[in-house]
Amino acid sequence: MSVLVLNCGSSSVKLALVDPASGERRLTALAERLGSSEAVVRLRRGEDERTSTPDDPSSRGAVTHLLESLRDEERDGLVGVGHRVVHGGDHFSASVAVDDAILADLHGLVNLAPLHMPANLLGIEAARDALPGLAQVAVFDTAFHQTMPPVAYRYAVPQEWYDDHQVRRYGFHGTSHRYVSARAAELLGRPAEDLRLVTLHLGNGCSAAAVRGGDSVDTTMGLTPLEGLVMGTRSGDVDPGLLGYVAERLDLDVRGVLDALNTRSGLLGLSGVSNDMRTVCEAAADGSEGARLALDVFCYRAAKAVGALAVALGGLDAVVFTGGIGEHSAEVRRRVLSRLGVLGLAEDPDANAVDGRGTDGRVSRPGDRTALVVPTDEELLIARDTVRLAARTTEAVG
Ligand code: ADP
Repeated sequence: MSVLVLNCGSSSVKLALVDPASGERRLTALAERLGSSEAVVRLRRGEDERTSTPDDPSSRGAVTHLLESLRDEERDGLVGVGHRVVHGGDHFSASVAVDDAILADLHGLVNLAPLHMPANLLGIEAARDALPGLAQVAVFDTAFHQTMPPVAYRYAVPQEWYDDHQVRRYGFHGTSHRYVSARAAELLGRPAEDLRLVTLHLGNGCSAAAVRGGDSVDTTMGLTPLEGLVMGTRSGDVDPGLLGYVAERLDLDVRGVLDALNTRSGLLGLSGVSNDMRTVCEAAADGSEGARLALDVFCYRAAKAVGALAVALGGLDAVVFTGGIGEHSAEVRRRVLSRLGVLGLAEDPDANAVDGRGTDGRVSRPGDRTALVVPTDEELLIARDTVRLAARTTEAVG
């Protein structure tokens, strides 16, 4: 049994053939630079990697090209295709099997994420055409956070913005926060129902979530993935008054300012060196003032968010580090934990130096509260949701 997991973006497409029981990847593929003449597709089976050029360099063309590259034996065991979909609005609080009515609902949500949703939907449509009869399941980045109460998701803005245009906080990275919070409960040997966790997803995009009893009760991203923590190229929180000020000073329109906040800010903006944490850490060690400041602001803001989310939880049992930075940067974890003594957390330097491996993920000294490293696996959770919903679809039809 296997599931295809598809993440279809406007300039890249990621595909994996996943064994939902073991998590093994039987095949992985990445199509990049789509929409340009340099579009390229890399397909890997074990040690074997092949590079090709799709005839049609669009996202849809790349998906079709990838699905046509599947071998017969790879198609035979397929139970469904799981699609990563960025926005489910307040309509979808869980993954869903896609039929015509659901697809129409999804098209109605494009305005909430105009850069990502069209490509996500193209992916679903291309997979339906190429693999007719197979369950297509949408797994939303926002769904896990639909348990947030109004006190956490409402902005203090005019009521009609919410009523007429769904202006509220949604949160993202939900699949990752859901996966690592469940896994943390296993590693801690305690039922998820009893736990108050702050999960820190620190990758190119960064967000933190407050998870109580297995449910998200607050998170740092909002209407869009720009709110909250400092990220690779995104600013995270700024004074909204900055928009008008910068627009006037630099003679930009709102779109121009938002573009700078999304693509030229964060670690890149502060360091002037890179959006990549590894490079920023190296430059900081080599004496770059900008890189040092970027690292400091990044960790300070992440720690401050943990404090705020501990208030949202009404207490704290564990902090969970995940994402490329959270899983691999001992330096970032050390700096974040050094600010969390007030919450009863202290780094265990030996465990932290080896990314918590071999110690059940723990990177803090023994105490009432624990800090853990938990590698995320969004593709595996998407595969498992797909199996569950594909079985239900088959039952309903049968
Ligand atoms: P995405 O959010 O695109 O999935 P990742 O979760 O892979 O990305 O995170 C990418 C980030 O992780 C980059 O900033 C990268 O520098 C950082 N990273 C990966 N390994 C390390 C490491 N050993 N030390 C510091 N940062 C790391």
